[in-house]
Amino acid sequence: MNIRVLGCHGSGQLVPGGNGPIQCGTCGFLVNDRVLIDAGTIGSRLYLEEQRRIRVVLLTHLHFDHIRELPTLADNLVGDIDEPVVIAAIPEVLNGLHRHIFNGAVYPDFFRLPDPARPVFVTHQLQPGREDLLGGLGVTPILVNHVVPTVGFLLREGAQTLLYSGDTYRTDALWTAAKDLTGLKAAFVEASFPNDMDELARVAKHLTPALLAEEFAKLARPELPVYAYHLKPRFRERIRQELGQLGMYHLTALEEGQTLVL
Ligand SMILES: [Zn+2]
Ligand SMILES: [Zn+2]
Repeated sequence: MNIRVLGCHGSGQLVPGGNGPIQCGTCGFLVNDRVLIDAGTIGSRLYLEEQRRIRVVLLTHLHFDHIRELPTLADNLVGDIDEPVVIAAIPEVLNGLHRHIFNGAVYPDFFRLPDPARPVFVTHQLQPGREDLLGGLGVTPILVNHVVPTVGFLLREGAQTLLYSGDTYRTDALWTAAKDLTGLKAAFVEASFPNDMDELARVAKHLTPALLAEEFAKLARPELPVYAYHLKPRFRERIRQELGQLGMYHLTALEEGQTLVL
């Protein structure tokens, strides 16, 4: 499984870095060039030719930072692709896209354009706990604990599985579902706020580095590589420092532009 990190932060922002500015983008991870996990960052990082290869977009939830480049993907591809792109999510997310985004007011309805018989996007309804085959991957959504209906994903290619937490606070179902998977290769786990903002994390239903460690311990797989993501750019340095202080040698924070091969 090849994973390109297009965007891995909890907001969009330019932050100073050692080798020049770092452009933090909202979540978008391109798997095997054709399946996108979350749609926060797409066209701002990909050539048109690369956008044309996207066949499936998996959405964890409706929050804007996870869907914000979906409208411009449609605009880039309209009239330019042979097969529609499959937008896969739970019903609450698909309904929200129709009602709030592709409603003819905020943006044209690319689920019906340019022609209802050959639209840019088609929907695929995911059901929590059920594995569907999409874009060559087994995709199992698991409900997690966020302020709106949200899933994490277990993404399987052959015998290898990646866990993607989605935006979540403390949760059990995801860890329970992943616990006994023999082919589990890595976990992407969100860490949005620094430790001293744990009250905000509780209310907004996100994790801090300390909570990430507690949640990850539920897997009882201390050797598994863990990649933290969804860091709020404002607190990026503090969160990274606190992640480093956890003493989890196999834990790293993701960065835009990185490619992982599992
Ligand atoms: Zn988010
Ligand atoms: Zn969210």
